[in-house]
Amino acid sequence: MARPTCPACQNSRFEAVNFEPSGSKFKFVSVQCASCGAIVGVMDYTNIGAELGSLRKDVKRLSDAVEQTKSYVLDVHRLVQRRS
Ligand SMILES: [Zn+2]
Repeated sequence: MARPTCPACQNSRFEAVNFEPSGSKFKFVSVQCASCGAIVGVMDYTNIGAELGSLRKDVKRLSDAVEQTKSYVLDVHRLVQRRS
């Protein structure tokens, strides 16, 4: 496998740096040469995969809470029917 090198100085170490371009409403992460700072790639500031994983857990938690609430409502309904 080819080893990535900086197109400007041939260094092979890179770093991720947060930045927000002027006029932009969003933050980004640049992948840049650790030696000269040449940017070789830009990624979204937020990791959409991690965000989706977090949202998936939130949806599951809310779905479980709805099911539990439905169960409580049905129990109350049964109790009311027994007394009437
Ligand atoms: Zn470089």
